[in-house]
Amino acid sequence: MKKVMLMAVAILFSVTGAFAAHSGRMLPDTAKTKKVKPAKVQYTCTMHPEVLSDKPGKCPKCGMTLVKKESAKKKADTMKMKM
Ligand SMILES: [Zn+2]
Repeated sequence: MKKVMLMAVAILFSVTGAFAAHSGRMLPDTAKTKKVKPAKVQYTCTMHPEVLSDKPGKCPKCGMTLVKKESAKKKADTMKMKM
């Protein structure tokens, strides 16, 4: 019976070790995948922020080409748009 216990412990340790090594490798990949996953990109008119489209096109109000608007609000982007 003791042998069985030792075997079980050995297997448990090896499995845990393998899992730890695996998850350690997997974690960065998961993070990358999350980053790569495209954020909801919308297109908006610089003159009419209320105009939102999920496809590039032209503003129905003024005919200006819609610009990409990333879901993350960045002040730097807003500054660029004003230029
Ligand atoms: Zn417009």
